[in-house]
Amino acid sequence: MRGGASSRVPAQKPSAGDHPKTQDLDPKTAADELHSDELWMEEALRSAQRALEAGEVPVGAVVVCDGRIVGRGWNRNIAGSDPTAHAEIIALREAAAAVDNHRLEDCELFVTIEPCAMCAGAMVHARIRRLVYGADDPKAGAVRSVMAVLNHPQLNHKVEIRSGVLAGRSAEVLQTFFRNRR
Ligand code: ZN
Repeated sequence: MRGGASSRVPAQKPSAGDHPKTQDLDPKTAADELHSDELWMEEALRSAQRALEAGEVPVGAVVVCDGRIVGRGWNRNIAGSDPTAHAEIIALREAAAAVDNHRLEDCELFVTIEPCAMCAGAMVHARIRRLVYGADDPKAGAVRSVMAVLNHPQLNHKVEIRSGVLAGRSAEVLQTFFRNRR
């Protein structure tokens, strides 16, 4: 920083004066959260890309806790000869090991495609706080497309859900995969 009187004045954004109170009291606004959703989804898409390169169905997931990634996964069904090796399951396992707790109550899960019944069930067991996903899965989606496993009226645990984040790109990776397989 250069010397002079002006260097002691904290830098301010030109527009900060328009909403001084809310900016000062609550720096993490809803708009910030929505924006960071996109950034975490970029990471999930990066994981989906890893699956694509390995010849697996390209779905990717990350688990975020306290603003950092604690778990990451992409589909490994073929490589692992494992029907349960979905991106979300792998990311949940890694996250639980990282925080040393089978409950992930303060964590959010980001996944490129609407979770299936197995993965949605695992999220309930993990007590995930929030789920953000990209594209709907009309064939196997268990959030709302085929069935509604999360927030079932007879389950106590409620999950906050946001869908449609970078949905176009999430679906495109899958479509490319299935088109090339034909
Ligand atoms: Zn699944």
